[in-house]
Amino acid sequence: MSIKNIVIVGGGFGGIYTYKTLRSLSLPRDVKLTLIDQKNHFLFTPLLPEVAMGGLDQHNVVEPLREIIQGRDTFVQGTLKQISETEKKIILEDGSEISFDVLILGLGAKTFFFNTPGAEEFSFTLKSLDDAVVLRNHTIDIFEEASRENNSQLKEKLLRFVIVGGGPTGVELAGEAADFMFSTLDKLHNNIHKKEIDIVLVNAAPKLVGMFQEKLQSYAQLALRKVGVRVLNGVMVTGVDAEGIVFKDGTRLDSKTVVWAAGVSPQSFVCETLRFDKGRVCVNESLQTKEHKNIFVVGDMSFIENPEAKIYPQTAQVAKQQGIHTAHNIKNLITDKNLLPFVYKEKGLLASLGRFDAIAQIKNFTFTGFFAWFLWRTIYLFNFASWKKRLRILSDWTLGFFTKRDTSRL
Ligand SMILES: Cc1cc2nc3c(=O)[nH]c(=O)nc-3n(C[C@H](O)[C@H](O)[C@H](O)COP(=O)(O)OP(=O)(O)OC[C@H]3O[C@@H](n4cnc5c(N)ncnc54)[C@H](O)[C@@H]3O)c2cc1C
Repeated sequence: MSIKNIVIVGGGFGGIYTYKTLRSLSLPRDVKLTLIDQKNHFLFTPLLPEVAMGGLDQHNVVEPLREIIQGRDTFVQGTLKQISETEKKIILEDGSEISFDVLILGLGAKTFFFNTPGAEEFSFTLKSLDDAVVLRNHTIDIFEEASRENNSQLKEKLLRFVIVGGGPTGVELAGEAADFMFSTLDKLHNNIHKKEIDIVLVNAAPKLVGMFQEKLQSYAQLALRKVGVRVLNGVMVTGVDAEGIVFKDGTRLDSKTVVWAAGVSPQSFVCETLRFDKGRVCVNESLQTKEHKNIFVVGDMSFIENPEAKIYPQTAQVAKQQGIHTAHNIKNLITDKNLLPFVYKEKGLLASLGRFDAIAQIKNFTFTGFFAWFLWRTIYLFNFASWKKRLRILSDWTLGFFTKRDTSRL
Protein backbone atom coordinates (compact mmCIF):
# COMPACT_ATOMS: atom_id res chain seq x y z
CA MET A 1 0.00 0.00 0.00
CA SER A 2 1.41 3.40 -0.92
CA ILE A 3 1.25 5.55 2.20
CA LYS A 4 2.10 9.23 1.93
CA ASN A 5 -0.62 10.86 4.04
CA ILE A 6 -1.23 9.73 7.62
CA VAL A 7 -4.05 11.58 9.35
CA ILE A 8 -4.73 11.28 13.09
CA VAL A 9 -8.03 12.65 14.35
CA GLY A 10 -8.06 13.24 18.10
CA GLY A 11 -5.16 14.67 20.09
CA GLY A 12 -5.94 12.75 23.29
CA PHE A 13 -4.00 9.86 24.81
CA GLY A 14 -4.52 7.49 21.86
CA GLY A 15 -3.88 10.07 19.14
CA ILE A 16 -0.86 11.70 20.75
CA TYR A 17 0.92 8.43 21.47
CA THR A 18 0.24 7.27 17.90
CA TYR A 19 1.76 10.51 16.64
CA LYS A 20 4.79 10.51 18.95
CA THR A 21 5.60 6.88 18.24
CA LEU A 22 5.23 7.35 14.48
CA ARG A 23 7.64 10.27 14.71
CA SER A 24 10.18 8.14 16.54
CA LEU A 25 10.05 5.33 13.97
CA SER A 26 12.01 6.96 11.13
CA LEU A 27 9.32 6.81 8.47
CA PRO A 28 10.19 7.49 4.81
CA ARG A 29 10.81 11.24 4.31
CA ASP A 30 7.85 11.75 2.01
CA VAL A 31 5.29 10.53 4.60
CA LYS A 32 3.23 13.47 5.86
CA LEU A 33 1.59 13.43 9.30
CA THR A 34 -1.47 15.54 10.08
CA LEU A 35 -3.03 15.79 13.54
CA ILE A 36 -6.57 17.13 13.86
CA ASP A 37 -8.42 18.03 17.04
CA GLN A 38 -11.42 20.18 17.86
CA LYS A 39 -9.39 21.72 20.70
CA ASN A 40 -5.88 23.06 20.34
CA HIS A 41 -4.61 21.26 23.44
CA PHE A 42 -3.96 17.81 24.81
CA LEU A 43 -5.83 17.36 28.10
CA PHE A 44 -4.44 15.30 30.97
CA THR A 45 -7.84 14.06 32.21
CA PRO A 46 -6.69 12.26 35.40
CA LEU A 47 -6.06 15.65 37.00
CA LEU A 48 -9.43 17.19 36.09
CA PRO A 49 -11.03 16.53 39.51
CA GLU A 50 -8.22 18.58 41.10
CA VAL A 51 -8.79 21.44 38.66
CA ALA A 52 -12.54 21.34 39.33
CA MET A 53 -11.95 21.63 43.06
CA GLY A 54 -9.36 24.43 43.05
CA GLY A 55 -6.31 22.21 43.68
CA LEU A 56 -4.55 22.84 40.36
CA ASP A 57 -4.36 25.70 37.90
CA GLN A 58 -6.31 24.72 34.76
CA HIS A 59 -3.47 25.82 32.48
CA ASN A 60 -1.20 23.19 33.96
CA VAL A 61 -3.18 20.14 32.85
CA VAL A 62 -3.16 20.96 29.14
CA GLU A 63 -0.41 21.11 26.53
CA PRO A 64 -0.74 23.00 23.24
CA LEU A 65 -0.88 20.47 20.41
CA ARG A 66 1.19 22.76 18.21
CA GLU A 67 4.04 22.41 20.72
CA ILE A 68 3.79 18.63 20.51
CA ILE A 69 3.90 18.25 16.74
CA GLN A 70 7.29 18.50 15.06
CA GLY A 71 8.97 19.81 11.94
CA ARG A 72 6.98 19.59 8.72
CA ASP A 73 3.94 17.93 10.34
CA THR A 74 0.64 19.74 10.33
CA PHE A 75 -1.84 20.48 13.07
CA VAL A 76 -5.39 21.42 12.11
CA GLN A 77 -7.89 22.65 14.67
CA GLY A 78 -11.24 21.36 13.47
CA THR A 79 -14.10 19.01 14.28
CA LEU A 80 -14.56 15.78 12.37
CA LYS A 81 -17.99 15.60 10.81
CA GLN A 82 -17.80 12.87 8.23
CA ILE A 83 -15.51 10.21 6.82
CA SER A 84 -15.74 9.39 3.15
CA GLU A 85 -13.84 6.11 3.12
CA THR A 86 -14.33 5.51 -0.62
CA GLU A 87 -12.79 8.87 -1.48
CA LYS A 88 -10.26 8.52 1.36
CA LYS A 89 -11.00 11.90 2.83
CA ILE A 90 -12.46 13.37 5.97
CA ILE A 91 -14.76 16.34 6.11
CA LEU A 92 -14.58 18.81 8.99
CA GLU A 93 -17.47 20.80 10.39
CA ASP A 94 -16.33 23.97 8.60
CA GLY A 95 -16.58 22.08 5.28
CA SER A 96 -12.84 21.67 4.70
CA GLU A 97 -11.64 18.32 3.40
CA ILE A 98 -8.44 16.44 4.23
CA SER A 99 -7.25 13.40 2.27
CA PHE A 100 -5.66 10.37 3.87
CA ASP A 101 -3.99 7.13 2.91
CA VAL A 102 -4.14 5.92 6.52
CA LEU A 103 -6.55 7.33 9.10
CA ILE A 104 -6.32 6.90 12.87
CA LEU A 105 -9.39 7.76 14.90
CA GLY A 106 -8.95 8.57 18.59
CA LEU A 107 -11.92 10.77 19.41
CA GLY A 108 -12.41 9.46 22.93
CA ALA A 109 -15.85 9.39 24.47
CA LYS A 110 -18.47 11.71 25.87
CA THR A 111 -20.67 11.37 28.93
CA PHE A 112 -23.53 8.87 28.65
CA PHE A 113 -26.61 9.60 30.71
CA PHE A 114 -28.33 6.19 30.31
CA ASN A 115 -31.38 8.05 28.95
CA THR A 116 -32.08 9.29 32.47
CA PRO A 117 -34.69 12.07 32.18
CA GLY A 118 -33.20 15.49 32.88
CA ALA A 119 -29.67 14.19 33.46
CA GLU A 120 -28.11 15.81 30.41
CA GLU A 121 -29.93 19.08 30.95
CA PHE A 122 -29.45 19.52 34.69
CA SER A 123 -26.16 17.79 35.55
CA PHE A 124 -22.61 18.99 35.43
CA THR A 125 -20.12 16.73 33.67
CA LEU A 126 -16.37 16.33 34.00
CA LYS A 127 -14.91 15.41 30.61
CA SER A 128 -13.25 18.60 29.39
CA LEU A 129 -11.29 21.51 30.78
CA ASP A 130 -14.34 23.74 30.30
CA ASP A 131 -16.40 21.30 32.40
CA ALA A 132 -13.85 21.54 35.23
CA VAL A 133 -13.80 25.35 35.17
CA VAL A 134 -17.62 25.57 35.04
CA LEU A 135 -17.94 23.19 38.01
CA ARG A 136 -15.30 25.08 39.98
CA ASN A 137 -17.05 28.41 39.38
CA HIS A 138 -20.42 26.94 40.26
CA THR A 139 -19.09 25.46 43.52
CA ILE A 140 -17.64 28.83 44.53
CA ASP A 141 -20.94 30.53 43.58
CA ILE A 142 -23.12 28.22 45.63
CA PHE A 143 -21.00 28.87 48.72
CA GLU A 144 -21.41 32.62 48.12
CA GLU A 145 -25.16 32.17 47.73
CA ALA A 146 -25.44 29.86 50.74
CA SER A 147 -23.55 32.31 52.94
CA ARG A 148 -26.28 34.91 52.27
CA GLU A 149 -29.21 32.47 52.59
CA ASN A 150 -31.38 32.66 55.70
CA ASN A 151 -33.91 30.03 54.66
CA SER A 152 -32.55 26.77 56.08
CA GLN A 153 -34.18 24.56 53.45
CA LEU A 154 -32.70 26.56 50.59
CA LYS A 155 -29.33 26.66 52.32
CA GLU A 156 -29.40 22.86 52.69
CA LYS A 157 -30.14 22.48 48.98
CA LEU A 158 -27.30 24.83 48.08
CA LEU A 159 -24.78 23.07 50.28
CA ARG A 160 -25.59 19.57 49.05
CA PHE A 161 -23.18 18.40 46.37
CA VAL A 162 -24.32 15.21 44.62
CA ILE A 163 -21.99 13.08 42.50
CA VAL A 164 -23.58 10.28 40.47
CA GLY A 165 -21.18 7.43 39.69
CA GLY A 166 -18.95 5.35 41.97
CA GLY A 167 -16.16 4.73 39.45
CA PRO A 168 -12.70 6.37 39.68
CA THR A 169 -13.92 9.77 38.41
CA GLY A 170 -16.76 9.98 40.96
CA VAL A 171 -14.56 8.77 43.80
CA GLU A 172 -11.68 11.12 42.96
CA LEU A 173 -14.03 14.06 42.61
CA ALA A 174 -15.68 13.25 45.96
CA GLY A 175 -12.29 13.18 47.69
CA GLU A 176 -11.25 16.48 46.13
CA ALA A 177 -14.63 18.06 46.90
CA ALA A 178 -14.33 17.07 50.57
CA ASP A 179 -10.95 18.74 50.84
CA PHE A 180 -12.08 21.86 48.94
CA MET A 181 -15.28 22.31 50.93
CA PHE A 182 -14.20 21.21 54.41
CA SER A 183 -10.69 22.67 54.43
CA THR A 184 -10.99 25.79 52.30
CA LEU A 185 -14.49 27.00 51.43
CA ASP A 186 -16.04 26.55 54.89
CA LYS A 187 -13.13 28.46 56.47
CA LEU A 188 -13.70 31.42 54.15
CA HIS A 189 -17.43 31.70 54.95
CA ASN A 190 -18.11 32.50 58.62
CA ASN A 191 -21.78 31.66 58.42
CA ILE A 192 -21.36 28.24 56.85
CA HIS A 193 -20.70 25.42 59.28
CA LYS A 194 -19.03 22.13 58.33
CA LYS A 195 -22.15 20.26 59.47
CA GLU A 196 -24.23 22.05 56.85
CA ILE A 197 -22.15 20.73 53.93
CA ASP A 198 -23.41 17.45 52.51
CA ILE A 199 -21.33 15.68 49.84
CA VAL A 200 -23.22 12.64 48.54
CA LEU A 201 -21.72 10.00 46.25
CA VAL A 202 -24.50 7.97 44.60
CA ASN A 203 -23.42 4.63 43.17
CA ALA A 204 -25.66 2.14 41.33
CA ALA A 205 -23.22 -0.74 41.99
CA PRO A 206 -22.97 -2.44 45.39
CA LYS A 207 -19.39 -1.16 45.92
CA LEU A 208 -17.25 1.75 44.78
CA VAL A 209 -14.48 1.41 42.14
CA GLY A 210 -15.47 -2.08 40.98
CA MET A 211 -12.27 -2.67 38.98
CA PHE A 212 -10.13 -2.64 42.16
CA GLN A 213 -9.66 -5.60 44.54
CA GLU A 214 -12.39 -5.89 47.13
CA LYS A 215 -10.25 -4.76 50.05
CA LEU A 216 -9.38 -1.55 48.16
CA GLN A 217 -13.06 -0.98 47.35
CA SER A 218 -13.85 -1.17 51.06
CA TYR A 219 -10.88 1.05 51.91
CA ALA A 220 -12.07 3.72 49.45
CA GLN A 221 -15.55 3.65 50.95
CA LEU A 222 -14.24 4.01 54.50
CA ALA A 223 -11.75 6.72 53.56
CA LEU A 224 -14.42 8.84 51.86
CA ARG A 225 -16.77 8.43 54.79
CA LYS A 226 -14.00 9.55 57.15
CA VAL A 227 -13.52 12.80 55.24
CA GLY A 228 -17.26 13.49 55.34
CA VAL A 229 -18.61 12.03 52.08
CA ARG A 230 -21.95 10.23 52.31
CA VAL A 231 -21.74 7.11 50.11
CA LEU A 232 -25.00 5.60 48.86
CA ASN A 233 -24.29 2.24 47.20
CA GLY A 234 -26.76 0.15 45.17
CA VAL A 235 -28.94 3.16 44.47
CA MET A 236 -30.26 4.03 41.02
CA VAL A 237 -30.91 7.60 39.93
CA THR A 238 -33.94 7.73 37.63
CA GLY A 239 -34.30 11.46 37.12
CA VAL A 240 -32.53 14.78 37.52
CA ASP A 241 -34.16 18.21 37.61
CA ALA A 242 -33.22 21.76 38.55
CA GLU A 243 -33.87 20.98 42.23
CA GLY A 244 -32.06 17.64 42.63
CA ILE A 245 -32.30 13.93 41.85
CA VAL A 246 -34.99 11.28 41.97
CA PHE A 247 -34.24 7.69 43.00
CA LYS A 248 -35.81 4.51 41.61
CA ASP A 249 -38.07 4.17 44.69
CA GLY A 250 -39.50 7.64 44.00
CA THR A 251 -37.74 9.45 46.84
CA ARG A 252 -35.74 12.60 46.08
CA LEU A 253 -32.61 14.35 47.24
CA ASP A 254 -32.71 18.10 46.79
CA SER A 255 -29.55 19.74 45.54
CA LYS A 256 -28.41 22.61 43.36
CA THR A 257 -25.37 20.60 42.20
CA VAL A 258 -25.54 17.23 40.49
CA VAL A 259 -22.39 16.00 38.78
CA TRP A 260 -22.89 13.09 36.38
CA ALA A 261 -19.77 10.91 36.51
CA ALA A 262 -21.29 7.64 35.28
CA GLY A 263 -21.04 6.19 31.80
CA VAL A 264 -19.42 7.13 28.52
CA SER A 265 -20.67 7.02 24.93
CA PRO A 266 -18.90 7.62 21.60
CA GLN A 267 -18.38 10.96 19.91
CA SER A 268 -20.71 11.53 16.98
CA PHE A 269 -19.56 11.64 13.38
CA VAL A 270 -20.85 10.14 10.16
CA CYS A 271 -19.29 7.12 8.51
CA GLU A 272 -21.81 4.85 6.92
CA THR A 273 -19.76 1.70 6.64
CA LEU A 274 -18.14 1.46 10.07
CA ARG A 275 -19.85 -0.84 12.54
CA PHE A 276 -20.45 -0.02 16.19
CA ASP A 277 -20.89 -2.26 19.24
CA LYS A 278 -21.76 -0.95 22.68
CA GLY A 279 -21.20 2.46 21.18
CA ARG A 280 -17.60 1.78 20.16
CA VAL A 281 -16.20 1.25 16.67
CA CYS A 282 -15.56 -2.45 15.92
CA VAL A 283 -11.97 -3.26 15.03
CA ASN A 284 -9.93 -6.44 14.60
CA GLU A 285 -7.10 -7.43 16.93
CA SER A 286 -4.70 -5.09 15.11
CA LEU A 287 -7.11 -2.21 15.81
CA GLN A 288 -8.01 -1.93 12.11
CA THR A 289 -11.64 -1.60 11.10
CA LYS A 290 -12.70 -4.78 9.31
CA GLU A 291 -14.28 -2.80 6.52
CA HIS A 292 -11.27 -0.59 5.77
CA LYS A 293 -7.76 -1.82 6.40
CA ASN A 294 -6.41 1.74 6.27
CA ILE A 295 -8.58 2.99 9.15
CA PHE A 296 -7.39 2.32 12.72
CA VAL A 297 -9.27 3.14 15.91
CA VAL A 298 -7.56 3.68 19.27
CA GLY A 299 -8.56 4.47 22.84
CA ASP A 300 -12.02 4.85 24.33
CA MET A 301 -13.78 4.55 20.98
CA SER A 302 -12.31 1.23 19.86
CA PHE A 303 -13.90 -2.16 20.48
CA ILE A 304 -11.92 -5.28 19.60
CA GLU A 305 -14.32 -7.76 18.06
CA ASN A 306 -13.17 -11.15 19.18
CA PRO A 307 -15.22 -13.31 21.51
CA GLU A 308 -12.09 -14.33 23.39
CA ALA A 309 -10.64 -10.85 23.70
CA LYS A 310 -11.30 -8.94 26.86
CA ILE A 311 -13.27 -5.72 26.68
CA TYR A 312 -10.56 -3.30 27.65
CA PRO A 313 -11.41 -0.56 30.12
CA GLN A 314 -11.77 2.97 28.76
CA THR A 315 -8.64 4.33 30.37
CA ALA A 316 -5.68 6.49 29.42
CA GLN A 317 -3.38 3.49 29.90
CA VAL A 318 -5.22 1.43 27.27
CA ALA A 319 -5.43 4.40 24.87
CA LYS A 320 -1.69 5.09 25.23
CA GLN A 321 -0.70 1.48 24.61
CA GLN A 322 -3.07 1.24 21.63
CA GLY A 323 -1.60 4.43 20.17
CA ILE A 324 1.96 3.10 20.46
CA HIS A 325 0.91 -0.28 19.03
CA THR A 326 -0.92 1.29 16.10
CA ALA A 327 2.10 3.40 15.16
CA HIS A 328 4.23 0.23 14.96
CA ASN A 329 1.54 -1.48 12.88
CA ILE A 330 1.42 1.45 10.47
CA LYS A 331 5.19 1.20 10.06
CA ASN A 332 4.64 -2.52 9.31
CA LEU A 333 2.00 -1.57 6.75
CA ILE A 334 4.44 0.82 5.05
CA THR A 335 7.20 -1.79 4.99
CA ASP A 336 4.85 -4.63 3.89
CA LYS A 337 5.22 -6.58 7.12
CA ASN A 338 2.44 -8.39 8.99
CA LEU A 339 0.42 -6.44 11.50
CA LEU A 340 0.59 -7.58 15.12
CA PRO A 341 -2.41 -8.10 17.42
CA PHE A 342 -2.79 -5.68 20.32
CA VAL A 343 -2.32 -7.13 23.80
CA TYR A 344 -2.97 -4.89 26.78
CA LYS A 345 -0.46 -5.02 29.61
CA GLU A 346 -2.04 -3.59 32.70
CA LYS A 347 0.56 -1.70 34.71
CA GLY A 348 -1.67 -1.07 37.69
CA LEU A 349 -4.67 0.87 38.91
CA LEU A 350 -4.61 4.07 40.92
CA ALA A 351 -7.30 6.31 42.38
CA SER A 352 -6.86 9.30 44.62
CA LEU A 353 -9.18 9.78 47.61
CA GLY A 354 -8.37 13.41 48.28
CA ARG A 355 -5.65 14.86 50.46
CA PHE A 356 -2.84 12.39 51.31
CA ASP A 357 -4.93 9.30 50.58
CA ALA A 358 -5.28 6.96 47.62
CA ILE A 359 -5.58 3.31 46.60
CA ALA A 360 -3.13 1.57 44.30
CA GLN A 361 -3.10 -1.92 42.82
CA ILE A 362 0.10 -2.88 41.03
CA LYS A 363 0.44 -6.50 39.89
CA ASN A 364 -0.39 -8.48 43.04
CA PHE A 365 0.52 -5.67 45.40
CA THR A 366 -1.94 -3.24 46.93
CA PHE A 367 -1.18 0.05 48.64
CA THR A 368 -3.33 2.51 50.53
CA GLY A 369 -2.95 5.81 52.37
CA PHE A 370 -0.08 8.25 52.06
CA PHE A 371 2.27 5.92 50.16
CA ALA A 372 -0.41 5.15 47.52
CA TRP A 373 -1.16 8.86 47.25
CA PHE A 374 2.54 9.67 46.79
CA LEU A 375 2.76 6.92 44.14
CA TRP A 376 -0.35 8.29 42.39
CA ARG A 377 1.12 11.78 42.21
CA THR A 378 4.58 10.65 41.13
CA ILE A 379 3.30 8.34 38.38
CA TYR A 380 0.93 10.98 36.98
CA LEU A 381 3.58 13.66 37.13
CA PHE A 382 5.98 11.57 35.07
CA ASN A 383 3.24 10.66 32.60
CA PHE A 384 2.90 14.30 31.70
CA ALA A 385 4.55 15.04 28.39
CA SER A 386 6.54 18.24 28.96
CA TRP A 387 8.96 19.18 31.71
CA LYS A 388 7.50 22.70 31.75
CA LYS A 389 4.08 21.39 32.84
CA ARG A 390 5.58 18.81 35.21
CA LEU A 391 7.42 21.57 37.07
CA ARG A 392 4.32 23.77 37.19
CA ILE A 393 2.19 20.94 38.58
CA LEU A 394 4.89 20.12 41.12
CA SER A 395 4.95 23.75 42.19
CA ASP A 396 1.11 23.83 42.51
CA TRP A 397 1.21 20.65 44.58
CA THR A 398 4.06 21.90 46.78
CA LEU A 399 2.26 25.19 47.44
CA GLY A 400 -0.89 23.19 48.18
CA PHE A 401 0.83 21.68 51.25
CA PHE A 402 1.03 25.11 52.86
CA THR A 403 -1.80 27.15 51.36
CA LYS A 404 -5.55 26.93 50.82
CA ARG A 405 -7.01 25.91 47.48
CA ASP A 406 -7.68 28.69 45.00
CA THR A 407 -11.21 30.09 45.33
CA SER A 408 -11.03 32.93 42.83
CA ARG A 409 -13.95 32.69 40.43
CA LEU A 410 -12.72 32.60 36.82
C1 LIG B 1 -12.22 13.12 34.93
C2 LIG B 1 -11.52 11.95 34.32
C3 LIG B 1 -10.54 11.29 35.02
C4 LIG B 1 -9.89 10.21 34.45
N1 LIG B 1 -8.91 9.58 35.18
C5 LIG B 1 -8.23 8.56 34.62
C6 LIG B 1 -7.16 7.96 35.32
O1 LIG B 1 -6.85 8.34 36.46
N2 LIG B 1 -6.48 6.95 34.71
C7 LIG B 1 -6.81 6.52 33.44
O2 LIG B 1 -6.14 5.61 32.93
N3 LIG B 1 -7.82 7.06 32.77
C8 LIG B 1 -8.54 8.09 33.30
N4 LIG B 1 -9.58 8.65 32.63
C9 LIG B 1 -9.96 8.09 31.32
C10 LIG B 1 -9.08 8.64 30.21
O3 LIG B 1 -9.13 10.05 30.21
C11 LIG B 1 -9.56 8.15 28.86
O4 LIG B 1 -9.70 6.75 28.87
C12 LIG B 1 -8.55 8.54 27.79
O5 LIG B 1 -8.46 9.95 27.73
C13 LIG B 1 -8.96 7.99 26.43
O6 LIG B 1 -8.06 8.43 25.47
P1 LIG B 1 -8.58 8.71 23.99
O7 LIG B 1 -7.39 9.07 23.19
O8 LIG B 1 -9.44 7.61 23.54
O9 LIG B 1 -9.54 9.97 24.14
P2 LIG B 1 -9.26 11.42 24.74
O10 LIG B 1 -8.03 11.45 25.55
O11 LIG B 1 -10.54 11.83 25.36
O12 LIG B 1 -9.00 12.29 23.44
C14 LIG B 1 -9.97 12.49 22.46
C15 LIG B 1 -9.60 13.72 21.67
O13 LIG B 1 -10.45 13.79 20.53
C16 LIG B 1 -10.89 15.12 20.36
N5 LIG B 1 -12.17 15.05 19.64
C17 LIG B 1 -13.33 14.54 20.07
N6 LIG B 1 -14.27 14.62 19.10
C18 LIG B 1 -13.67 15.20 18.05
C19 LIG B 1 -14.12 15.55 16.74
N7 LIG B 1 -15.36 15.27 16.32
N8 LIG B 1 -13.24 16.14 15.90
C20 LIG B 1 -11.96 16.42 16.29
N9 LIG B 1 -11.49 16.10 17.52
C21 LIG B 1 -12.33 15.49 18.38
C22 LIG B 1 -11.00 15.67 21.77
O14 LIG B 1 -10.91 17.09 21.77
C23 LIG B 1 -9.81 15.01 22.45
O15 LIG B 1 -8.64 15.80 22.39
C24 LIG B 1 -10.24 9.75 33.16
C25 LIG B 1 -11.24 10.42 32.44
C26 LIG B 1 -11.87 11.51 33.01
C27 LIG B 1 -12.93 12.23 32.22
